[in-house]
Amino acid sequence: MKILIIEDNTQTTEVVKLAFKLGWPDVRLVEANSGEKGIEMVETAKPDAIILDIGLPDISGYEVLRQIRLFSELPVIMLTVRNEEGDIIKALSLGADDYLVKPFRQMELLARIKAISRRLHSPEIDLEFGCGPFHFGQSITKLYKDDMSIRLTNIERQILYHLMRANGRYVCNEMIAQKIWGENAYERIRVNIRHLREKIEDDPSNPRYLVNIPGKGYMFIYQDAPKISLSPSQDITP
Ligand code: CA
Repeated sequence: MKILIIEDNTQTTEVVKLAFKLGWPDVRLVEANSGEKGIEMVETAKPDAIILDIGLPDISGYEVLRQIRLFSELPVIMLTVRNEEGDIIKALSLGADDYLVKPFRQMELLARIKAISRRLHSPEIDLEFGCGPFHFGQSITKLYKDDMSIRLTNIERQILYHLMRANGRYVCNEMIAQKIWGENAYERIRVNIRHLREKIEDDPSNPRYLVNIPGKGYMFIYQDAPKISLSPSQDITP
């Protein structure tokens, strides 16, 4: 596993290096100290995941993330000193997989990266799976709606996959969060559902496929599905 850290603060980079050295020595860490260099290294160094600081000397981490997402779906963990909801939502909206607020605990960083790595390497998602007009393509981020190709982020794909598997039964928020982040993270679900609706619904403000069960969770509904049930899905176990 190779991880690219894009961070101008050498002290933070050293802390991250030390964390891996002690807790996960198999990981190779490569560094970029500016945004532009980081974007270049996503292509040249071929990392498996990216740790990205928001406050960089040349361009902001948000802009770096936006540009990375134009050509790559690699997992990105944002490092931020801010802990305001708006900043976190902005990072998630631009396609960040997760975020950590500085100062963070070393073990927490390792746990987040391990969770991402598990998801990357788990054969849990059946690429052949389809439901109604939707089926996943050979590339893990490609979804087809009839013949139209839709590009999903890694997180969006996982959420949609779990909801489709439970077609006609709702999946509770806690279950979605646990499946994907290993913890409860309602805001992250909400942002990703909004993006999915914008991508797959004809009218995102009046969703037909991705339905919210207020206070409970979400449900994927395809109309030819068997009877719709308001009891939670049983086949998704944490
Ligand atoms: Ca910085």
